[in-house]
Amino acid sequence: MRGEVRVARFERDGFLRQAEASVGRGVSTVSVKSKEILEVSKLKSQIADIQNRKKQGLEKLGNMVYTMHLRNAFDEVRLRTKSADIVALDEQIKQKENELGEIHAKAQEALGKPKPIAICGCGAEIYERTKFCGKCGKKVEPLR
Ligand SMILES: [Zn+2]
Repeated sequence: MRGEVRVARFERDGFLRQAEASVGRGVSTVSVKSKEILEVSKLKSQIADIQNRKKQGLEKLGNMVYTMHLRNAFDEVRLRTKSADIVALDEQIKQKENELGEIHAKAQEALGKPKPIAICGCGAEIYERTKFCGKCGKKVEPLR
């Protein structure tokens, strides 16, 4: 019909996925969320590993100090080296925690942005569940 923007039947799940894929950035909510969960759990287990290594490192450092005390021979260089190893682990933990924040922010961005499913004759993007073009006001009609 003239005066109408014809877009394919986007109510249907199958087509919706196809439309989103063709738009490029379109990712389904489910895949965004499951990807986020997967990446978050991977990072959290990496953080736990590093924290474990940190704990072991601190224990070794404590033993080292105690042994040095018993021998009354403090080796400052060794203590500094061992401490620096632990600082490096702390930095790795901080970096992984930043990545966690980034993953969450990216997922939110992907979920929050409306996904265009068609382009109107006027050049404006048409989004899911819209009845009229936001720019020129043409009626959006699913194809039958
Ligand atoms: Zn339009």
